[in-house]
Amino acid sequence: MSEASDRGFPGLGDRLHQVQSGIADACRDAGRSSDEIDLIVVTKFHPVELVAALADLGVRDVGENRHQEAQAKAEQLAELDLRWHFVGQLQTKKARQAARYAHAIHSIDRERLVDAIADMEREIEVFIQVNLTEDPARGGAAPAELERLAEHVLRAPALHLRGVMAVAPLEEPAPAAFERLAGYSERVRAVAPGATAISAGMTHDYREAIAAGATHLRIGSAITGKRPEPR
Ligand SMILES: *Cc1c(COP(=O)(O)O)cnc(C)c1O
Repeated sequence: MSEASDRGFPGLGDRLHQVQSGIADACRDAGRSSDEIDLIVVTKFHPVELVAALADLGVRDVGENRHQEAQAKAEQLAELDLRWHFVGQLQTKKARQAARYAHAIHSIDRERLVDAIADMEREIEVFIQVNLTEDPARGGAAPAELERLAEHVLRAPALHLRGVMAVAPLEEPAPAAFERLAGYSERVRAVAPGATAISAGMTHDYREAIAAGATHLRIGSAITGKRPEPR
């Protein structure tokens, strides 16, 4: 909107507002209230200055998918009131470090990862990532493991299980994938009734995700613009 708040990132405010009204439209179409939706702006590979400019524009929730990059940005922007969401695959040996700055970890997909952070001294919100493909390299727990993993998270004192997370596969229409995810969310809620959140929906499929019940959207390039090459 105002060029002053774009702080060297032309169009950033306009794109943010476009996505916000796209979310409002999709909610209206789905008969949902936009109060049910948390927008997380995914800032991976972008400079820390872009995250600061987003904060100026009122963004509070930002997402990153690499521990080192996320840690450095969180440190540099520690004085801002930001909530860092870790959305990428997380190595077990990096988990405790990530859990120091992360408000939420969206990529919990195995018991060893839970065990690594179960006794942290601060509370961390977590989502169980479900793999919607047959390819184990995509990240996420196999659907058959969901209930057991959810019960494991419930026993971890530091972890607050919010719900499920997934990335829609490229090779399938998003509505079908998100419908499966809604079914997995129901299964997790059967063992963890408080785990009502669904983290799903990115630049190209957030409208479909809203229609299928998503509560946490992880949107990057529609707001930030094209991502620089990873360093
Ligand atoms: C990069 C990323 C996003 C955002 O992707 P866009 O297509 O740029 O919106 C969302 N979720 C995860 C897990 C990501 O890695």
